[in-house]
Amino acid sequence: TKWVYDFGGGASDGDASMKNLLGGKGANLAEMASLGLPVPPGFTITTAVCTAFYDLGRKYPEELDAQFEASLKTLEAKTDKEFGSATNPLLVSVRSGARASMPGMMDTVLNLGLNDTTVEGLASLSGDKRFAYDSYRRFIQMYSNVVLNITHDVFEDILEDYKDLQGYELDTDMQAEDWQDVIGKYKSAVLSNNGGKPFPEDPKDQLWGAIGAVFGSWMNDRAIFYRKHNDIPASWGTAVNVQSMVFGNMGDTSATGVAFTRDPGTGQNLFYGEYLINAQGEDVVAGIRTPAPISKARAAEMGSDDEPLEVTMPDVYQQLTDVASKLENHYRDMQDIEFTVEQGKLYMLQTRNGKRTAQAALAMAVEMCKEGLITEDEAVLRLAPAQLDQLLHPMIDQDAKAAATAEGRVFVKGLPASPGAAIGKIVFDSDEAADAAAKGEDVILIRIETSPEDIHGMHASKAIVTARGGMTSHAAVVARGMGRPCVCGAGSLRINKELGEVSVAGDTLKRGDIVTVDGATGEVFKGRVAMIEPDLSGDFAHIMEWADNARTLSVRTNAETPADVEVAKNFGAEGIGLCRTEHMFFDADRIPVVRAMILASNEKGRKEALEKLLPMQRSDFEAIFRIMGDKPCNIRLLDPPLHEFMPHSDEEMAEVAKGSGVSIEMLTHRASELHESNPMLGHRGCRLGVTYPEIYEMQARAIFEAAVNVAKETGIAPVPEVMIPLVATKAEVALMKARIVKMAEAVLPKSAIKIDYLVGTMIELPRAALRAADIAEEAEFFSFGTNDLTQTTLGISRDDAARFLGDYEKQGIYEKDPFVTLDIEGVGELVKLGAERGRSVKPDLKIGICGEHGGDPASIAFCHGLGMTYVSCSPYRVPVARLAAAHAAL
Ligand code: ADP
Ligand code: MG
Ligand code: MG
Repeated sequence: TKWVYDFGGGASDGDASMKNLLGGKGANLAEMASLGLPVPPGFTITTAVCTAFYDLGRKYPEELDAQFEASLKTLEAKTDKEFGSATNPLLVSVRSGARASMPGMMDTVLNLGLNDTTVEGLASLSGDKRFAYDSYRRFIQMYSNVVLNITHDVFEDILEDYKDLQGYELDTDMQAEDWQDVIGKYKSAVLSNNGGKPFPEDPKDQLWGAIGAVFGSWMNDRAIFYRKHNDIPASWGTAVNVQSMVFGNMGDTSATGVAFTRDPGTGQNLFYGEYLINAQGEDVVAGIRTPAPISKARAAEMGSDDEPLEVTMPDVYQQLTDVASKLENHYRDMQDIEFTVEQGKLYMLQTRNGKRTAQAALAMAVEMCKEGLITEDEAVLRLAPAQLDQLLHPMIDQDAKAAATAEGRVFVKGLPASPGAAIGKIVFDSDEAADAAAKGEDVILIRIETSPEDIHGMHASKAIVTARGGMTSHAAVVARGMGRPCVCGAGSLRINKELGEVSVAGDTLKRGDIVTVDGATGEVFKGRVAMIEPDLSGDFAHIMEWADNARTLSVRTNAETPADVEVAKNFGAEGIGLCRTEHMFFDADRIPVVRAMILASNEKGRKEALEKLLPMQRSDFEAIFRIMGDKPCNIRLLDPPLHEFMPHSDEEMAEVAKGSGVSIEMLTHRASELHESNPMLGHRGCRLGVTYPEIYEMQARAIFEAAVNVAKETGIAPVPEVMIPLVATKAEVALMKARIVKMAEAVLPKSAIKIDYLVGTMIELPRAALRAADIAEEAEFFSFGTNDLTQTTLGISRDDAARFLGDYEKQGIYEKDPFVTLDIEGVGELVKLGAERGRSVKPDLKIGICGEHGGDPASIAFCHGLGMTYVSCSPYRVPVARLAAAHAAL
């Protein structure tokens, strides 16, 4: 097995297609080198080594050592340096790199190979003692932190004390001798914090120590948490990249930076990045010094006083933008790049497809398609369905914002690090954020800065605000990835966690106070600022149109009120997949009539009440048909157990008694008659139709009469689909269908316009799925009610599941909540079987899904695979479903 792959220096073993084996970073370093870009040479130890390492109980595969030695030799040859040499030392970085980027999850060690001997070599090679010792002390600190688990504070305290003693303000005041002194102190600190073991002097020991730490970090808590939230399997492993060092800390002609080839927040085609002169890579991300913008345009936009790279190093800037466009054209996507300038020469250290907000993903996909860089189908694939959600959520209303500003309610302004708006209560701590969110509260996390330990708190928060850090700080990158609005670098914030206060120039807010965060402008307002619905024209409309061209599944909605139906239609619903008629029973003017119907002790009484309900239901259906026009409307007959409509309080009881002329005793008696010990499996669905035929007859009449009326009124024939719920047998369908058809025949011939209607059934009981072939002989369509089908297949009541499903997920029994993402193995098998058996009888049987799963991208992909006709979901999920259906088809 080949465990080690070389890159750079004229020959690379790997390329960008080998991400699985080399990790994203390693694969792209090889690719960039092959493109002729200036990449410091190195080698990649593969992800297969990581997997083998854990399989072998934290031991390396046998052949690794020889291959490693060979690659180290090659690297020495390529760089013309020698690892561990006292006169011409090769120094390397050790960098992790998984298949999918895991920002900040694994730590990099720079300047590895330095010790008391090689540092002298570096000093004489560079002719700069100060630089050599600065690099050495950085190395000791990083290595000790990453490999030996000694906190940064230990070293920062030593340095601060030293500077205080010398009366120095800045790190730049430190001279070579100062660094030498500090290095001595660092080493003693290592000795006492590392169980009496000294800092490793042997470069080989250092290197293996760092490699082991990278592989070890694959299983640390942060990495495990990140993987869990991003669906990354532990089996992927990480690669380790060993790369020859280039130095951004060699004086004022050296620098380091990170950039995006386009704005990752808005999608604007503007080179976007930050850099620091005379610094090493980690300095930018860590926010120790605030970096300066790279381009003049960006600096102007931000109102930054710092000189952009375009001004300080115009040649490098030119090279960098050339590299950027070369990379964009090559990868055909926006790139997130890391670079270092060593004494005026540019080196590329990383490239990857950049993370972006939903808004940016959308804008870029459309623009790149228009530029001819990508096709329409590719543009559709650039926007993740789950991300789309962010675009459908409210944004700050500009008028309300102007008013809030006039009222002096702007609390602070920082960098607009991740767009979107949110309102919530202030918290200062990630655990606190997670606890509050678990109680259903909306919180805004305010921190000096964030680190990987804050991921769970950021996840739990509606928005994040930090006092420190730039547009590429941890908070900014992670927030954009999560789709959380974020304001960074709000430098005037003074946070006092102990007191639970945050203030800006004497203006103080307390823990729990409400703020509104506008991530698009970087402003934080005291109190609430009104939000508005987002704009769905322009880019959004383009992508949706392209998605519609690509998909084969149609998308309907679960809706019953005219308002919801209207929203869904505007979001592109192609019909109604589930109209729950019982929701219409609860309106204030109806519930007394519904109650009278239920309480009637005989058929006559029930029919009288149903007479009153008929015109109400008819007008409900008319409203829906009017909006949906010639699109199909699936209407489900009454489903829930009748007791759900019973009065609950004594007051309600008295009111019903008065209205219906029945005594309270009688009512109470009837209520107890309706009581069921397990209503979910009780007298509901078509079982109601069996015992009280007049209810379904009334509903069928209302549907058909409404269709006739709307056809007359608009000239467009509605397309009703009448659906029978909770069916287990063919006989049930036959019985219900006969009555519905009879009603249709009684009502429809009076209509001049032909109404095509269907009668079909829900498949939501395992028996119905199993006997789908018989049922299809009667049913004209199937709709998989996967909410009930999940309950009945797993034997888990949806209403009670919350108590224990969390533990199930934690212990990995069900990977995902089966009520959110279809349990494909189990429930999915019944769906598949039902669909197949149904279509074995009626090859073009219309089949849809109407559970919550109809709006879940993974479940939609499954439905697409089964060749379903449509999915149906709640109105706000309709665009997500359209996009997910397109992704499934592409
Ligand atoms: P992360 O995955 O956290 O971004 P990286 O491995 O990319 O970590 O390393 C972080 C930074 O360290 C890089 O952006 C770069 O600036 C610096 N770095 C890494 N390797 C080298 C190297 N060989 N020479 C100079 N700087 C390096
Ligand atoms: Mg990096
Ligand atoms: Mg159901």
